[in-house]
Amino acid sequence: MSRVFNFSAGPAMMPEEVLQIAREELADWKGSGMSVMEMSHRGKEFVSIAEQAEVDLRAVMNIPDNYKVLFLQGGASLQFSMVPINVLRGNKKADYILTGSWGKKAIAEAKRFCDVNVAASSLPQKFMTIPDESSWQLNKDAAYVHYTPNETIEGVEFQSIPETGDVPLIADMSSTILSRPIDVAKFGIIYAGAQKNIGPAGLTVVIVREDLVGQALDDMPVMTHYSTHVDNGSMYNTPPTYGWYLAGLVFQWIKRQGGLHAMAKINERKANKLYSAIDNSSFYSNPVEKQYRSWMNVPFILANADLDSAFLREAKDNGLVTLKGHRSVGGMRASIYNAMPEEGVDALVSFMAEFERRNG
Ligand SMILES: *Cc1c(COP(=O)(O)O)cnc(C)c1O
Repeated sequence: MSRVFNFSAGPAMMPEEVLQIAREELADWKGSGMSVMEMSHRGKEFVSIAEQAEVDLRAVMNIPDNYKVLFLQGGASLQFSMVPINVLRGNKKADYILTGSWGKKAIAEAKRFCDVNVAASSLPQKFMTIPDESSWQLNKDAAYVHYTPNETIEGVEFQSIPETGDVPLIADMSSTILSRPIDVAKFGIIYAGAQKNIGPAGLTVVIVREDLVGQALDDMPVMTHYSTHVDNGSMYNTPPTYGWYLAGLVFQWIKRQGGLHAMAKINERKANKLYSAIDNSSFYSNPVEKQYRSWMNVPFILANADLDSAFLREAKDNGLVTLKGHRSVGGMRASIYNAMPEEGVDALVSFMAEFERRNG
């Protein structure tokens, strides 16, 4: 087996240890004579896998008892509509903080359901910063405040949780969940597509405070109501069973690493190594305001864009793949989620220095 360091923004690397466990259990899960993907979601084997995954996620994130944990489908993108469908609760107004491309999509979707107040936006700064909280024009009568703690495409990340008083705070954590400890009690809803820091694509994790469940717009499909999934333990329809199982293995892997405090230390160190390499060179650059740089997604550009294709080709020859930046931003992007080993970052940093020596 020859594995590369894959810097893809998502689907992204899985911890190798998790893949090995999955391989061992692939055809016969713990003597059941079945693969997890062949099990009935209502059978006792899968129900035990599903319950354990929730127990482990609750432990890892320290999720309070008054929050429900849902294992859904439809990606973060479906949450862009499920949030207004469920959380408007008769209100017609919601606040959004716009700090990047994903926030923009969330806003476009919310506009189908309500009046969106963009309470703060870094669009004029091309999303290279985060507007100071003191400048936000929050509406105290808004149904909720939505933001994107880590903007995956621009590589810009909040370093603290905004204060919204009694108005529920809702976060699209797709590319930052499980990268560091957070106080779940500060949120009304946290949601994340799995394919960045949780597991394979096809699973979406939603953590929702109980009082926000049960008041959905009733002319909307039953599958878009959180209550449907809460009332049925995320098994109203057939859940993404294999992804749920793999997510459970990832939660246990995080526990073995020492939990989110340990993950945060490693992630901060990995990010610092890469940003230092970029900042200490005149060949590479990252335009994001330093205090808001993402730990997870590190975009960078080469001084001479004509060298982009040589950089990507030679990186690939060195086992460093999927470094091409998002089509809307150009340049390079290294996504360094939990499962990217520190050696992967070290290898990238060495390659970058070596490439600069030859071409700078
Ligand atoms: C990847 C991503 C999405 C889109 O997720 P899907 O699961 O493809 O719908 C949304 N928001 C953020 C912040 C992301 O990183």
